[in-house]
Amino acid sequence: MKHPTPTEIAEYAKSIGFDLDAEEFFDKYEIVGWVYGKYNTPIKSWKGVVRQWQRWHKGHSNNLSAGKPKLRLFPIGGTCCVETCKMPAVYKVTGQAYDHKYCHEHMPDEVKEQYG
Ligand SMILES: [Zn+2]
Repeated sequence: MKHPTPTEIAEYAKSIGFDLDAEEFFDKYEIVGWVYGKYNTPIKSWKGVVRQWQRWHKGHSNNLSAGKPKLRLFPIGGTCCVETCKMPAVYKVTGQAYDHKYCHEHMPDEVKEQYG
């Protein structure tokens, strides 16, 4: 197999809609001489490996979001408790004198950080 250049890798990744660090990919396989796996199997299709990374990447990010606690980010009824804001509330803080409801923009910062 003809070894690809980082540019070729970047172009191919882009063409399949994969935001790949082409330098990282290139270095990883250039160092070991374009082999993969436990038995140093020679790579016959580097494009196939790029697609494999893409699948791994997808699965990985799915797992990450699956691990997040669920937050109810759809309208929960009522409007944001910020006086000047009339947006539908998507987050409710309970356990206070009364429920505070917030729209996506006005929810507490620590909640934004946790859940995006
Ligand atoms: Zn608001």
